[in-house]
Amino acid sequence: AEEMMIRSEKMSVAGQLAAGIAHEIRNPLTSLKGFLQLLQAGVNKEDEFYKIMVDEIEKMENITSELLFISKPMTDHKVVENLSEMIKDVVTLLKPQADLKNINIQQKQDTTQVVNCDRSQIKQVFTNLFKNAVEAMDEPGFINVNTRLHKDEIEIDISDEGPGIPEDVIHKLGEPFFTTKQNGTGLGLMISRQILERHGGRLDILQNEDKGSTFRVILPQSQDK
Ligand code: ADP
Ligand code: MG
Repeated sequence: AEEMMIRSEKMSVAGQLAAGIAHEIRNPLTSLKGFLQLLQAGVNKEDEFYKIMVDEIEKMENITSELLFISKPMTDHKVVENLSEMIKDVVTLLKPQADLKNINIQQKQDTTQVVNCDRSQIKQVFTNLFKNAVEAMDEPGFINVNTRLHKDEIEIDISDEGPGIPEDVIHKLGEPFFTTKQNGTGLGLMISRQILERHGGRLDILQNEDKGSTFRVILPQSQDK
């Protein structure tokens, strides 16, 4: 227990530092973006440079927002929450993005499952995973959500029909800043793993037999059901 205490204290110093830096950087970035957009308005529309600069700034903004999220203190007041309600909220938010790519999110859920958790953090995990699933798919298809109880744990499978994850890359997922996307931050999976660990859970990554991959969220079943 003592070792864990020390580790969590260290985390919070790192977290504070991350928050400080993220905050200091985000404000100037936002003003830079504003001025660039003003300049862009008065410039030859063919000029790509401005668009590139705005894109790059947006990427930095995304990184700073995610760093701010990491460093938020983990509230210790966990509350019993209905799992499928949280998932439904997230799916509703991401539906426009999925619709745009003709991706259908299908839910096969055990609606009775509850977890002891910080609602906004667990929703953040599902947001990250659904976003990744949508982003991975270049063609119309399905994302399947499957919830089940396995021993004392709740398993939530999010399966996509994307390209799957190459063997040589799989161990890198969740490393900070590892991304294969043009505009990725490479922080989503790391944050998700961290949140799940704080809840006594974990994230497993599986290769589907046919196509795509499955991200399995594992959370302990709430005791005070
Ligand atoms: P980001 O989405 O910003 O790249 P993440 O931490 O969310 O950062 O994901 C890291 C990397 O993991 C992605 O760039 C991608 O290569 C890979 N990845 C994540 N989810 C999937 C998925 N569902 N299918 C294929 N690759 C994925
Ligand atoms: Mg992501």
